[in-house]
Amino acid sequence: MKPANSVLSGYGTTVFEVMSQLAVEHGSINLGQGFPDDNGPDAVRRVAAETVESGPNQYPPMMGIPELRQAVAAHNRRFYGLEVDWRQEVLVTSGATEALAACLFGLIEPGDEVVLFEPLYDSYLPIIRRAGAVPRLVRLAPPDWSLPRDALAAAFSPRTKLILLNSPMNPAAKVFDRDELEFIAGLMARHDAYAVCDEVYEHLVFDGRPHVPLMTLPGMRERCARIGSAGKTFSLTGWKVGYITAPLALLQPIAKCHQYLVFTTPPNLQRAVAFGLGLDDGYFAGLARDLEAKRDRFAGGLAEAGFGVIDCAGTYFVTADFRPLGFNGDDVDFCRHITTEAGVTAVPVSAFYEGEAPRHFARFAFCKQDEVLDEAASRLARHFGRS
Ligand code: PMP
Ligand code: GLN
Repeated sequence: MKPANSVLSGYGTTVFEVMSQLAVEHGSINLGQGFPDDNGPDAVRRVAAETVESGPNQYPPMMGIPELRQAVAAHNRRFYGLEVDWRQEVLVTSGATEALAACLFGLIEPGDEVVLFEPLYDSYLPIIRRAGAVPRLVRLAPPDWSLPRDALAAAFSPRTKLILLNSPMNPAAKVFDRDELEFIAGLMARHDAYAVCDEVYEHLVFDGRPHVPLMTLPGMRERCARIGSAGKTFSLTGWKVGYITAPLALLQPIAKCHQYLVFTTPPNLQRAVAFGLGLDDGYFAGLARDLEAKRDRFAGGLAEAGFGVIDCAGTYFVTADFRPLGFNGDDVDFCRHITTEAGVTAVPVSAFYEGEAPRHFARFAFCKQDEVLDEAASRLARHFGRS
């Protein structure tokens, strides 16, 4: 038999799937894959349910229903002062995962270079490689994940088509500040490059920090495709509704990819997300406040259990160094060990790197009920002899 595509067949099953299955097998508390254990806002789900009942339930327009595209444009104006033409500059996708694939396949030509920061989300590299581009990886180093400006400048070249920027960043929980974004914008302008901005955690930023979309910086409006996800903004990760905001020149080829990849996204969910994006400021502030309190609660629990906890400025995730516990093994061993022996699951941070990687960090998702977080922390403390 002829071989299947060699790029994709070289990858295994994602770490999220593997660890979630292991968690189910062992009945452990799953703080691996990042999904909340509540049901999202009632009012948003009610709109979805009503629209399943009443319809429409047939193919919506390829770009997304007007109501949601208008809501995305209004959201851009409300939170970031971005003026967006909903007819030409917004595309609804089946989750941010599809948005990323549509952006990368739509913009990349074989032989192009793409600059990315490591550690990185797992879907980026397979798609970039399948599109025929050459990734240029720039590493951020824990514990502060600061921008290595020289290495970043060296990664750009005349062949750089785009940079893929994830802020707030999974798994590092770093939020890029304006000064860092200005540096990136300068490189993009100098090298005539675009940015695909994965901003799915835009509303999960803590300690009063602002989330600054790269797209809002001078000269960047025409160079950025900005991606959001209802999964994160409404704690409904299974819905897979995403949205891209981009200038027409970029959105046109991206939409061409989308129309052949999935064509569209369930209309009832789109309608509910349109409603959600119109919720008052209190909803969005409350979401960040609740998650921030959970971060404090669980990071405190991890520290008491003996972990070296790294600062977390946003997202669902906290990264912890397990060396102080005296565990003998790498991060993959550690995450399996705590799943089977302590009843708590995390994901190994080395899964977010290519090649050599730090092997002493585990990533824990804290988007869970307080009792669940407390129980997980006390199981870890008990297991490692701290209580
Ligand atoms: N980007 C990042 C950084 C993520 O963590 C995730 C996973 N939640 C996604 C994209 C995918 O989002 P979605 O579930 O909307 O496809
Ligand atoms: N974004 C989620 C995480 O980082 C996982 C999404 C997935 O399972 N593909 O945990």
